[in-house]
Amino acid sequence: MDFKKYIEIVEDYPKEGIRFKDITTLMQDGPAYKAAIDQMADYARDKNVDVIVGPEARGFVVGCPIAYSLEVGFVPVRKAGKLPREVISVDYGLEYGKDSLTIHKDAIKKGQRVVITDDLLATGGTIEATIKMVEQLGGVVVGVAFMIELGYLEGRSRLDGYDLFSLMTYN
Ligand code: IMP
Repeated sequence: MDFKKYIEIVEDYPKEGIRFKDITTLMQDGPAYKAAIDQMADYARDKNVDVIVGPEARGFVVGCPIAYSLEVGFVPVRKAGKLPREVISVDYGLEYGKDSLTIHKDAIKKGQRVVITDDLLATGGTIEATIKMVEQLGGVVVGVAFMIELGYLEGRSRLDGYDLFSLMTYN
């Protein structure tokens, strides 16, 4: 399937100079959303995944249906102050801003095989921070799956050594 035809590009959003890739237009098409999730789920299945981890909010949109279809758990990564129990946290830089991410301290068991999912790889800061937390909890990151990779931001080089999968790449 040509997934790119379902992605809207929004100029100068959320600020000037950014060409925002909008995945909501893909999600609102049932067969396209399902085909995208199915391909990402096949990737995670091949990695023998135990648990899917995804950062808010679009990482949930991608990661939850994958976890459901593979009958494995889903662990949310959230912005500071959003998770109710004991967390570990890490600071990270975004393509447009700075923040910190958190994960529940008991969310991952030592040695569990983790696939991290998100809608889009830009600079790689979000995923780098997520990997750090998963590994701190003893998880093994066996793969990272995206709908979209922005090749020109070179997030891939920041995640050197990890197996990455993306449905679409923009260069
Ligand atoms: P990174 O940390 O720089 O790789 O940024 C990735 C995060 O920013 C992802 O969680 C995306 O949801 C969000 N993001 C950055 N650029 C875009 C875009 O063009 N479209 C949609 N999300 C974006």
